[in-house]
Amino acid sequence: MRKAEEGISQVLDWVILKVVQRCNLNCTYCYVYNRGDDSWKTRAPVVLDSVIEKTAQRIVEHSQKYGLNKFVVELHGGEPLLLGKKKMQSLIDRLREICAPVYLRIILQTNGLLLDEEWLKLFDRNDISFGISLDGPPEIADKFRIFRNGTGSTQNLLDKINKLRTAGPDFDRLLGGVLCVVNPESNGAEIVRWFVANGFDAFEFLLPDGNYINYPQGWNGAGPYRRFLLEAFEEWYAMDGDAPQIRLFEMMLMGFMGVKSSLDALGGDLRKLCVIESDGTIGVSDVVRMCRGDYANDKLNIFDHPLDLHASVYKLEEIQQPAEQCQKCEYLQSCGGGYLPHRFDGNTFNRPSIYCDALYALSDRMSQKIRMDMPASLLRDPSASLRPTDFIG
Ligand code: SF4
Repeated sequence: MRKAEEGISQVLDWVILKVVQRCNLNCTYCYVYNRGDDSWKTRAPVVLDSVIEKTAQRIVEHSQKYGLNKFVVELHGGEPLLLGKKKMQSLIDRLREICAPVYLRIILQTNGLLLDEEWLKLFDRNDISFGISLDGPPEIADKFRIFRNGTGSTQNLLDKINKLRTAGPDFDRLLGGVLCVVNPESNGAEIVRWFVANGFDAFEFLLPDGNYINYPQGWNGAGPYRRFLLEAFEEWYAMDGDAPQIRLFEMMLMGFMGVKSSLDALGGDLRKLCVIESDGTIGVSDVVRMCRGDYANDKLNIFDHPLDLHASVYKLEEIQQPAEQCQKCEYLQSCGGGYLPHRFDGNTFNRPSIYCDALYALSDRMSQKIRMDMPASLLRDPSASLRPTDFIG
C-alpha cells in the first residue's frame, strides 16, 4: 500500500507552458536572461499553435495512462501577458477543448506590469488565478527589478495594483500569491510587515538562483540570507493567528511533523512537473538549465515524446537524492536539502544547497520554537512518565 501511494505521488501532473519567450523587464537575477540560459534566443518568440494542440493531446494521453482527472497548466514566460488577450483566450479555449474531460487548473505567473481590468475579466471568465512577482518596496526591489533602460519598475506595479484594487475586489480574489526574491541587504521582519501592511496575505520567499560554479550576484556567503530568513520567520511566527501565508515557513514546519515538502525549494520532487517551451521542447524545471551541460540540452520535444519521459532522460530520481551530508543532517525533513539547482557543483548535485547555512539555522530556530511551545510535560523523558494504562488497548 505504501509503495503504491509513493508511486502515485511521483506522477507528473503539472506542465509549465512557456507562452512567450521575451520579457518587458530585465531583472538582474533572472535565470532566463541573466544567469546563463540563452536558449530563449533561438526559440519561437510566442508559443506555436501546433505546440498548444500537441501539449493538450499529450496531457490527455498522459492522464489516461496514469488515471488522472485533473492536471495543472501554468502559463509562464518571459512575460506571459505579452501574448495579448485575444491569443491568450484562444490558447485557453483550445487547451480546454482538447483536454476535456480532464479538468485543467490553469494558473499564470506575471510581473504584473501589463495587468488591467480586461485581463482580470479574462482570468475570471476562465477560472484562472495568477501570481505576481514583487520583491518589496521600490527602494529594496528596484535594485534587481528593472526595465531595459535600467530604471526601477516597482512603483509602476504598485500604482497598477492600487488602481485595480480601487476598481473592485477582483484583483485580490484572483491573486493566488506573490513571489518575492530575497534581497539580502534588506531586513526580513520589515519585508514581512511591508507585505502585510500593503494587503498581501499570501507570499513566498525565493532565494536567488545560483550554485557552486555560478553564485548569485554579490554573493558574500549564506550569512545575509540566514539573517534575513531568521528576521522574517521571527516576525511571522509572532503574528500568530494574523500571520500571512508564507509557504516556505509553513512547509518547513510541516517537515517537523513528517510531511514531505512538495515545494521545489525544499527538495520537492521535480518529476512531478516539466517545462514545455514555445517551440515544443520538453525540459526539466527551467532553473536547472542554469546548470548547463546535460541539463541545458533539448533532448525531448512534445511532438515526438510523451510527457513522462523527461524524468528518466534527465535522471531526476538519481540526481535528486539528497547529498551525503544532507542524509546525515538532523534537519533533512524540514529543509529537504534545498533546491536542486542550488546544489550543482559543476559535475554533480551531490552537495548541500549553497544556502545550507541559512536553511540549517532556520530549521534550528523552528525546532527551538516548537520545543518552547510544547507542553512542558512532553519535554520530560517520555519513558519516565509511562504509566501502566499507556499500554492498554
Ligand atoms: S540544512 Fe544543509 S545539510 Fe541539512 S538538509 Fe539542508 S542543505 Fe542539507
